[in-house]
Amino acid sequence: MAECIFCRREAVYLRLYSGERLCRKCYVKSIESRVQHTISKHSMFKPNDRIAVALSGGKDSVSLLHILSGIEEGFPQSELVAITIDEGISGYRPEAIRIARENCERLGVEHYVYSFKKLYGQTLDQIVTMAREGCELTPCSYCGILRRKALNVAAKEVNATRLATAHNLDDEVQSMLMNIIRGDVSRISQIKPVLEGEKQGFVQRTKPLCEVPEREVALYAFLKRIKFQTVSCPYLETSLRQDVRLFLNRLEMKHPGTKFTIYRSFGKIRPYLEGMERMGELGYCEVCGEPATGGVCRACQTLQDLGIALR
Ligand code: SF4
Ligand code: ZN
Ligand code: ZN
Repeated sequence: MAECIFCRREAVYLRLYSGERLCRKCYVKSIESRVQHTISKHSMFKPNDRIAVALSGGKDSVSLLHILSGIEEGFPQSELVAITIDEGISGYRPEAIRIARENCERLGVEHYVYSFKKLYGQTLDQIVTMAREGCELTPCSYCGILRRKALNVAAKEVNATRLATAHNLDDEVQSMLMNIIRGDVSRISQIKPVLEGEKQGFVQRTKPLCEVPEREVALYAFLKRIKFQTVSCPYLETSLRQDVRLFLNRLEMKHPGTKFTIYRSFGKIRPYLEGMERMGELGYCEVCGEPATGGVCRACQTLQDLGIALR
């Protein structure tokens, strides 16, 4: 391959959507700078924040942990911790937890694990088996609803002031299109780099990787020799997300830059959707005390529908 456009070393990557050829060192720097830029642009953190990283053990969250750990060195008053949610997916999650723990040990980051079993009395595997009979939601829907609540509960328990999740550009664009496909247009306004809610029982969620494409996060992890889980979740194939991902990847290959264009277009539409959509009054769940728009939060409602006794 030709030379790096910045330093003339041998390039290892051609960024098709910008035309840049980059060597290993400049590539790594470009990703870290972009994340830093996203953080400043959206004022994601304060210098004295206690930031909890939602750490699954996959390439995105482990890369985010490494990048934030590097940035955090410049802010001695801030703290970084990691939270892993053990949904209870046999043959998949145990390895991810081990990898997450190893990365935390390497970086000297406190690591907390919270399980569905302990929080809800059932593993995701058990929930999926129970649900198949009634077949209401997909495994990923159950997982998403219950994980979101678990992360918020955990972040509060470990006294985090921010919860950083590793959603990358692809995740965000997929979510935008999925909401269109489902006809749930108003929800698009909720897909953004910083989610409000600090004062409403939520730990404020931020997405520092939201402007980095998935394949660039993977290359970053590979070039930095970061250890991450490579096995996919056994439920992945059942998701609409996977179909949208393949569709977007095909488009991106033929028309480089498509994902960024969609992302920015939705960014322009978002203020109008926010104006249109008035979320229901936010209160607290009658069952668990977590934030809820109705009397009962979505997680408790989902468990109730399955006949699972609530705790
Ligand atoms: Fe959960 Fe679906 Fe992700 Fe598996 S693929 S961890 S079930 S959201
Ligand atoms: Zn270079
Ligand atoms: Zn609840």
